[in-house]
This record gives sequence, structure tokens and C-alpha cells, in this order.
Amino acid sequence: MDQLISIILPVFNEEAGIQTTIDTLLNYVEQQKERYELIFVDDGSKDRSIQIIEKSMNQYENIKLVKFSRNFGHQLAITAGLQYATGDAVVVMDADLQDPPEVIPKMIQKWHEGYDIVYGKRMQRDGETIFKKVTASAFYRIFKKMATIDMPLDTGDFRLMNRRAVNQLRKLHEQDPFVRGQVTWIGFKQTSVMYHRQERMAGETKYPLSKMIKLAVDGITSFSMKPLQLANIFSVVPIVSGIFSLGYLLISGTYSLASVGVTILLFTLGLLLLSVGILGSYLGRVLDQVNNRPRFIVSETEGFQERNIHHLHARQSQN
Ligand code: UDP
Ligand code: MG
Repeated sequence: MDQLISIILPVFNEEAGIQTTIDTLLNYVEQQKERYELIFVDDGSKDRSIQIIEKSMNQYENIKLVKFSRNFGHQLAITAGLQYATGDAVVVMDADLQDPPEVIPKMIQKWHEGYDIVYGKRMQRDGETIFKKVTASAFYRIFKKMATIDMPLDTGDFRLMNRRAVNQLRKLHEQDPFVRGQVTWIGFKQTSVMYHRQERMAGETKYPLSKMIKLAVDGITSFSMKPLQLANIFSVVPIVSGIFSLGYLLISGTYSLASVGVTILLFTLGLLLLSVGILGSYLGRVLDQVNNRPRFIVSETEGFQERNIHHLHARQSQN
């Protein structure tokens, strides 16, 4: 049986270019030996995107459409797509052809070599504003410093995942998922293929600054507890100043209301911040528990089946 590849395409107001995307993908899948299903997830588009996709469903039997009741956001559209995909491997890509389909066979090849997850790594980004490039690059580098997962730099949501990776992702139930982080988090064998990120072929970005900030905040708050511990670090300033102030008091021996008051105030502030930091540590544990991710993921087990080593022992002792 030929393998089935699901392609998930989140769509939000893409009427300007969605027809080209469909045509390009249909032309692509025709030339492949694998079978394909194209799953469009409409994230509450208010334009003609849905009609255009529906029309194309007469052209190719393996086009599927999941419609959201309103705009829930790109990450949840991907998450929904993963619930509906039935393929042996699943590819997620933008509906604006920024992620070229020609990269998919390279991903499939890596999958056949034994990798569970193959992400597209951007070596160049065309047609994106300097602002976007600089903020994206800064975000990934800050994220790397803060996060508990080692997310590869310069990767987005363009990637292939095999069935066992998708099944694990489907067990994550975060309310505001940061999918690329989740994918890193589940582990397994991961690798990348380099690609040249194209210019959006029509329409404009559906990621205004507000959505970019939300994505960045979701990413950091789902995979880093560091911000919760900031209060601990900040508490050092008043505590150290308090010690100096106390020292000054004792040495100079001038116990004015102001100097004693300032010393007490500094220590109080330090303790207050420290308490907030302690609360943060507990909150972090609560967050972890509420996220309810599996505590670990086993990729394989060995040696649990009955093995016939008695014969081996017998033979060895004869020699
Ligand atoms: N998208 C979505 N919901 C949103 C925003 C974007 O489903 O709220 C889709 C969009 O149609 C596109 C993909 O997610 O297929 C990535 O968005 P976009 O191309 O605008 O982001 P960029 O490539 O500019 O970062
Ligand atoms: Mg795009």
C-alpha cells in the first residue's frame, strides 16, 4: 500500500492566493508516488476562501475542509488539523505557498531514513519586512536562553511528523498551544532540511504585531518558568541595599528616623519580592500540573518479551 501523506493548511482570509495554492499542490501531488490528502482548516475566514476551497473539492477527491466557527488562531488551526489527519505522515504548511511543496519529498526521504520529525529550517526569508526578521530572530534567541526545551533556531511550523509523533502531539491539551515548542518537547528523532522561505505569493500577512506578541508570550509561558522567578532576582537589589544601609547606620551611629525607616523599608521590600518569587515557584508547579502533559514519553522498550537465552547459556557451559 502506498503511504498516505496528510498536508495541513491553516487558512485565514486567503482568498487572494488560495486558488494558486490549490493548483500548485494538486499539480505537485499528481507527480508523487505517495497518496495525499489536503486538509484545509478554515480559521474563521470572512472572505471567499471557503467557497474557493469547496469548489476545488470537485476537482480532487482528497481535499478536506475543517471549518472553525470563528477565528481561533493559527496554532489551534494546526492543532485541529492534527486531529483530523489520517496520514502515515503529516506535513504542516502555510496556505500562502511560503513553504514550497518541493521540500516535502526531501522531508519524506528523511522520514524514510528513520526520523520521526523533519522540520524545515529557513536559510533565507524573502519578502518579509526587516522588522519581522529582526523580531523573529531576537525571539528565537531569547527563547533558546529561557526555555526548558532546545527548540531549533529559525524553524517555523513547516514540518513533517510521522504517525507516532502526531499521536503524541494529540495527547497535549494546552489551551493556547505553541505548536513548534510542543513538537520539540515530545522528543523522538528530529532533524531538519534547509529551505528557502519564499515571498508570500498573494495577500498580506495574517500575523499582525498583536498576534506575533501573543505567539511569543504563549511560547515563553508554555516552556519557561524563568519569568516566574524574576521576583527572586529582583529581590537582591533591595536586600543588598538594605544591608549597606544597615551597615552605614551601625558605623555612623546616627539613628535618624529617615535612615532607620529607609533600612526597614528596603528589607521589607526585599522580603516581599522574595515571597512573590516563592509564590512563583509554586505557581510554576501548578501550571505544570494544569498543563497536564504526559510526564514522559517512551519511544521504545526492549527486553520485555520472552527471550530464549537458556539455550545460549547451555551451549556456553558446554564449551
Ligand atoms: N492563519 C490562520 N489564522 C490566523 C492567522 C493566520 O489560520 O489567525 C494562517 C494563514 O492563513 C497562513 C498561516 O496561518 O496560512 C500563516 O500565516 P501568515 O502566512 O499570515 O504568517 P507569516 O507567514 O506572515 O508569518
Ligand atoms: Mg505565510
